[in-house]
Amino acid sequence: EQDVQLGKESAAEVEKQMQIVKNSQIASFIDGIGRKLAAAPEAEAQTYAYSFKVVNEKSINAFALPGGPTFTHTGLIAAADNEGQIAGVLAHEISHVVLRHGTSNVSKANLLQIPAMLGGALGGGGMLGQLAQLGVGLGANSLMMRFSRGAETDADLLGTRILHRVGYNPIEMARFFEKLEAESGKQGKLSEFFASHPNPGNRVKKVQTEILLLPKRSGAYDADSGRIAQVKQA
Ligand code: ZN
Repeated sequence: EQDVQLGKESAAEVEKQMQIVKNSQIASFIDGIGRKLAAAPEAEAQTYAYSFKVVNEKSINAFALPGGPTFTHTGLIAAADNEGQIAGVLAHEISHVVLRHGTSNVSKANLLQIPAMLGGALGGGGMLGQLAQLGVGLGANSLMMRFSRGAETDADLLGTRILHRVGYNPIEMARFFEKLEAESGKQGKLSEFFASHPNPGNRVKKVQTEILLLPKRSGAYDADSGRIAQVKQA
């Protein structure tokens, strides 16, 4: 419940600072992918309050706040080769929410203060305001959105299970991350995504191994809406 509350407050702040894309073609495309993924039992949608919005930012990134609000940069949509790659990033972000990586980081860094804070009556400014007093804020370097390599692998593996469940090929998630990594190398500049999601290495291989452990699907991966070309144009 506290994750969800913190996420709501943080999302309101993000929406003040970033431009939310209202174009219905783009917004409904991302929301549609997100909802499909959130319907997987692994996403625990009865516990978390998912939302899937698009922000007008050219950099290649996406991020989830604790409790479920998720934001996709337009630059990420432009960089993806197919819908499965975008679904892959969203499944990875959903996994950070379910595994509570962001709040776990914040709790570890503030072991003494946070239980006292949460135990007391919430003062003015809500949870986000109280966390700000501990030096925990939003933004690229926020503890809430910066993960370890171990957390990255965990998010890839849970993401794999979610994608497989709803009918997106999980390999596209790993391929996209490897493609971004390769392009970052060429440009000598790491994509913004890796600043908060450090590459744990061997992603395609780990995803392939995980797929072998999952129940076989009765049909092909068929969740693709077929809308990506139009959405990219928009
Ligand atoms: Zn990650």
